Amino acid sequence: MKIVRAESMGMCFGVRDALAEATSQPNPSRVAIHGELVHNSHVLQQLDSLGLAQCPEESRAIAADRPLVMITAHGVSNAERERLERAGKTLIDTTCPLVQRVHDAAQRLSAEGRLVLVVGKRNHVEVRGIIEDLEHYAVVESADDVRDFNESQLGVICQSTTPPDLACDIWSHIQLHNPLADIAFIDTICDPTWQRQHALEALLPEVEAVVVVGGKNSNNTRRLVQFCHRHGRPALHVEGPDDVDPDWLCGVATVGLTAVRARSTRRLRLCTKNFKHSGAQSVIRHEADF
Ligand code: SF4
Repeated sequence: MKIVRAESMGMCFGVRDALAEATSQPNPSRVAIHGELVHNSHVLQQLDSLGLAQCPEESRAIAADRPLVMITAHGVSNAERERLERAGKTLIDTTCPLVQRVHDAAQRLSAEGRLVLVVGKRNHVEVRGIIEDLEHYAVVESADDVRDFNESQLGVICQSTTPPDLACDIWSHIQLHNPLADIAFIDTICDPTWQRQHALEALLPEVEAVVVVGGKNSNNTRRLVQFCHRHGRPALHVEGPDDVDPDWLCGVATVGLTAVRARSTRRLRLCTKNFKHSGAQSVIRHEADF
């Protein structure tokens, strides 16, 4: 079996910087992370062991019992920031600049008097942070959510990690259903997401199946799996090398390998070793990511 690794995969700079900030805190026992820094159980366990408190996404409304609060790369609304500061917290802000760019675009479109359409997952923490600062908005998860919004001015932005092919599909539906509206589209998909899709597009013609490494709760990992399925390739979502099922790979001559983010590259290396144990003969392309 031959293994082909995608050109672009692994930890994006936004999460990498946030993790570096978290793991270099001089007094971790004074710090609470406001939500999940990464949707990955291995990393969350590591942060626990350093003594950092972590507030689950669903209980962020309860002020953490620590004086320093770390905002994750996914960002929060201005309203949430003010709430925390009123509660006496000192904020350590690791909001990714590319997430901040989405907030700024949403505010700009809103200031122009447009109904802001936020393409993304309704319950995703990044989307919640964006819409909490908007009065006039709608969240669009898929083309099925698109309708005639009955507005003369629409503004469209995307959650930073929206798969570009999904965004394009939704954009064309918005135009189709709102032919008379003045529509402003701002592409707020982040560069690492574009690169990941391009790399996967380049990989798929070369392989019969794909193994995607990432946390079980990771929306981005699930989206890469769905992308493979939409393009007719079976895909296996694994968290680590122990999840690689040799039976699933049985009969596959060429398998592709990709990952989304935090710590995935290290586990990818281990997965690659496991593949070799299950009969893989060669690993080609892009050692640099390892
Ligand atoms: S916006 Fe992109 S680069 Fe920033 S944290 Fe999210 S995935 Fe990473």
